[in-house]
Amino acid sequence: MRYISTRGQAPVLSFEEAMLTGLARDGGLYVPESWPQMSADDIATLAGLSYEETAFRVMKPFIGDTFGDDEFRAIIDRAYASFHHVARCPIVQTGPNDFLLELHHGPTLAFKDVAMQLIGQMFEAALKRRGESITIVGATSGDTGSAAIEAFKGLDNVNVFIMYPHGRVSEVQRRQMTTPSESNIHALAVDGDFDDCQARLKDMFNDFTFRDEVKLAGVNSINWGRVLAQVVYYFTSAVSLGAPHRKISFTVPTGNFGDIFAGYVAKRMGLPVDRLVIATNQNDILHRTIASGDHAKTGVTPSISPSMDIQVSSNFERLLFDVYDREGDAVTQLMDDLKDKGAFTLSQGALGRLREEFDSGRASEEETAATITRTAQTTGQIVCPHTAVGLKVAAEQRGDKATPMVTLATAHAAKFPDAVEKASGQHPALPPHMADLFDRPERITRVANDLSAIETLIRERLS
Ligand SMILES: *Cc1c(COP(=O)(O)O)cnc(C)c1O
Repeated sequence: MRYISTRGQAPVLSFEEAMLTGLARDGGLYVPESWPQMSADDIATLAGLSYEETAFRVMKPFIGDTFGDDEFRAIIDRAYASFHHVARCPIVQTGPNDFLLELHHGPTLAFKDVAMQLIGQMFEAALKRRGESITIVGATSGDTGSAAIEAFKGLDNVNVFIMYPHGRVSEVQRRQMTTPSESNIHALAVDGDFDDCQARLKDMFNDFTFRDEVKLAGVNSINWGRVLAQVVYYFTSAVSLGAPHRKISFTVPTGNFGDIFAGYVAKRMGLPVDRLVIATNQNDILHRTIASGDHAKTGVTPSISPSMDIQVSSNFERLLFDVYDREGDAVTQLMDDLKDKGAFTLSQGALGRLREEFDSGRASEEETAATITRTAQTTGQIVCPHTAVGLKVAAEQRGDKATPMVTLATAHAAKFPDAVEKASGQHPALPPHMADLFDRPERITRVANDLSAIETLIRERLS
């Protein structure tokens, strides 16, 4: 399988190169040249298989000969051994034909572990073979940083520096980043906000001397390897609910559009997905896009579901590429408009195709809190605010009650204890593997919001 850029101007790459590169040189995102197909018979044979074996069969056509079969199986096994549930991503029933897909049984309690744990192992294997080491630098508002740290800690060929805004992440999130003791992990508390962290990261990628010297790499959610890993749980959950013999719908709490795009990929591969429902919080650019065809940025308003407080949904570009007949020029034009004017308008044809695949809805802060309360009362489940956004929209967009509706539970409630306790009256306890989080020693490195100060610090730590 070869990978092409959504803007049509960057070199065509193998899976391994696309994974290690991240962003394409023309500013686009890598996508597979074609969608591998799984027949109804192929899907039927997934019934009863382990999560790991399903992962192998679903991802194999995408990775080509990057890893041998035995090596790839071992990578998958190592990745998911860190999960605290034998099913890895179990489903629980919350209504007559309503289900939650629990994606928060990984080490940092958010769905980002599902992809990050896998690409940690894939990076390690690929870098060992190439005899290379790299420096991963990331900026985080909370969940991505801790997932990356857990995935790469203790690996030989990788050093990880995560910049987070000092004083602006939750205590659970901060401790997840500052308590791992492995020497290749560096959590940097930047004196600034999240936008400052992201701006310094960009500056670093544009400082070519530094970039080449430390072999800078990125693992943010536009990395194709992360999207691919997320395709798997659409298959495992749909098969356990009766696919390929019946259709399944999914509602996905959405920010950067990575998670729901993985559902779209599963459908393109042949999984009988009925509806894909985009659920946003008050930062609802994607909902407005589906409703009106106008994709217009407004400011970000902080919410109780902070991991979805996003206005630039990077992975949406991958979908645009498909609905514009894979024409890189058309995508480039839209992205230029977004950059220059803060908005673009979809063609009628493209909007029609989007609406064939996706429904959408939004949840206000009050609706999100009310959904946490109601879900606790009616099902006994304590859900996180992101999941609550999904449940609110799923209930409202639910058409045909005969089709199972699966809402993705993207984080554990204990990651957002304040909002959850306020809405449900119950304090969500950390799971046993994290019960001592508040007793573990922290290593905090404060750094100024200044490129050369940050680069100097990274150079010192690497030497
Ligand atoms: C990252 C995140 C999301 C949004 O996922 P996208 O792939 O960016 O759409 C939703 N919920 C939680 C808890 C997250 O950490």
